[in-house]
Amino acid sequence: MVATLPSDRSPVIGTVWLVGAGPGDPDLLTLRAARLIMGASLIVHDGLVDGAILSMARPSARLVSVAKSRSRHTMKQDDINALLVREALAGHDVVRLKGGDPFVFGRGGEEAQACRAAGVPVEIVPGISSAMGAAAAAQIPLTHRDHASIVTFVAGQCKGLSDQDWSGLAGHGRTLVIFMGLATAAQISDKLIADGLAPDVPVAVIEKATRPDMRVLRAPLAGLADLVDRERVQSPALIVIGAVAAQAADNTICATALEAMQ
Ligand code: SAH
Repeated sequence: MVATLPSDRSPVIGTVWLVGAGPGDPDLLTLRAARLIMGASLIVHDGLVDGAILSMARPSARLVSVAKSRSRHTMKQDDINALLVREALAGHDVVRLKGGDPFVFGRGGEEAQACRAAGVPVEIVPGISSAMGAAAAAQIPLTHRDHASIVTFVAGQCKGLSDQDWSGLAGHGRTLVIFMGLATAAQISDKLIADGLAPDVPVAVIEKATRPDMRVLRAPLAGLADLVDRERVQSPALIVIGAVAAQAADNTICATALEAMQ
């Protein structure tokens, strides 16, 4: 009998799991995400993933940070794609942890494409997007029969601002949720007001949603940039524009922001 040599077998390829880590609070992970994190031997994660979530990993797990931020890129997207593919082709399952949901401004689409192109199996595990987490934590309903029946998610960084036509995205009956819009808050309010939006449309800024140091700040649209500046709002933060923003729970509203609305 001839023994089968390992080289005769097709090579084992790992699976890449693109996993949403939710907005921050570990209780907001899906059960599937929690199981994958606790069982992983390799976790590749963004800067947005909370330390409390990473601490759920096994002590022996390899944790690789590919943190991205506006001013500090530790790893280019192509290099992240290459890392995922390389590890999977070497036979390792990879838990790729992303803040919120992997397919909402998470570049999950690019990573999934890179895996498929390399013949690497890829699975997507949805997460609670920060839009949902922030809305719930601040008690801002994104839709409301009296106020809004359309919700739009936009990226507010410079490229998103200059490349996209925002006219009509905000206004009567609509809620606009802006990701990555802190640095461009002044341009955002100018652009929307120039498009015809009333300067007193309610705006809520939700900083570090679902984390212990979360803040919810409110201002009229014309006061958005001043609010962000005065309160030194830090990333990550979301900007919600529309009538529903006025419903933010009272106890979370910053007093100085309220003064600005009067
Ligand atoms: N995939 C993520 C979004 C990534 S883009 C999701 O579904 O939430 C990064 C942006 O998300 C940040 O600039 C910020 O606008 C928003 N964000 C992520 N986590 C947040 C949090 N805990 N609180 C407020 N905004 C958050």
